[in-house]
Amino acid sequence: MAMDRLKLLILGGTTEASAVAKALAGDNRVAPILSLAGRTKAPAAPPVPYRVGGFGGPDGLAAYLEAEDIDLLIDATHPFADRIKRNAVAAAAKARVPLLAIRRPQWTPQPGDRWSVVPDMEAAVGALGETPKRVFLTIGQKELAPFRAAPQHHYVIRSVDPPDVSSRPLNAEIITARGPFDEEDERTLLGRHEIEAIVTKNSGGSATQAKLAAARALGIPVVMVARPEHPDAERVETAEAALAWLEERLRGA
Ligand code: NAP
Repeated sequence: MAMDRLKLLILGGTTEASAVAKALAGDNRVAPILSLAGRTKAPAAPPVPYRVGGFGGPDGLAAYLEAEDIDLLIDATHPFADRIKRNAVAAAAKARVPLLAIRRPQWTPQPGDRWSVVPDMEAAVGALGETPKRVFLTIGQKELAPFRAAPQHHYVIRSVDPPDVSSRPLNAEIITARGPFDEEDERTLLGRHEIEAIVTKNSGGSATQAKLAAARALGIPVVMVARPEHPDAERVETAEAALAWLEERLRGA
């Protein structure tokens, strides 16, 4: 009976959220709802019921958890989505709903990598230096504005949707693409555009890791923006571990 199903809210927008949702689709012990922020115009069709848009801060999320009778909150948001992570911790406490966070491990430098680790996008701009370069930006569409301050570079920007002209550097080529990407394609792209530096965020995960291996192979320096600090929560590292955690609870229930 639907009433007996464990009601899950999955905060998504990531590979892990999609994997958890896909694995739970058709499982009649659970009733998952996937939540997307609505940043990408045409998100991949979710395999489970979903909702789109913000909740209105931590109190809005807590109210949603209560109104929808959510039994378990899974935070599978992106490592750089730090506001929703804090909201999830606060809302789960307020609504007394258990929270499980999926926190992917960071990428770590391998022998041959030429990384400069910086704390934020402004520092990333500085790390590119004064000399004009051909720069590959794989940082999404929200944080491109700081690069307007360094118009000496030529930028190749890759994002899921084309970034707004008013918030990106003007001397840029735009590539719209959605991962996962493979190493050979990444090498071809870096070579074709004669890229001399890459700016990326330390997202972790396998979907967008190939650019780092390609950069290593080609000796291209990488400006790596470090992650924001994550709030404390019970956590696992992968979608598989989250599913195992859930299975244990379903068996124990
Ligand atoms: P953020 O700064 O942490 O969140 C900003 C606001 O967006 C939140 O306060 C919340 O609004 C709303 N929001 C975020 N994620 C949501 C979700 N899954 N469902 C409903 N509302 C959500 O997040 P962001 O960096 O803008 O990222 C937005 C979404 O894109 C996240 O779901 C994230 O997983 C995904 N994503 C982000 C990145 C990245 O680099 N930041 C990369 C890939 C995917 P209210 O306060 O009104 O609830």
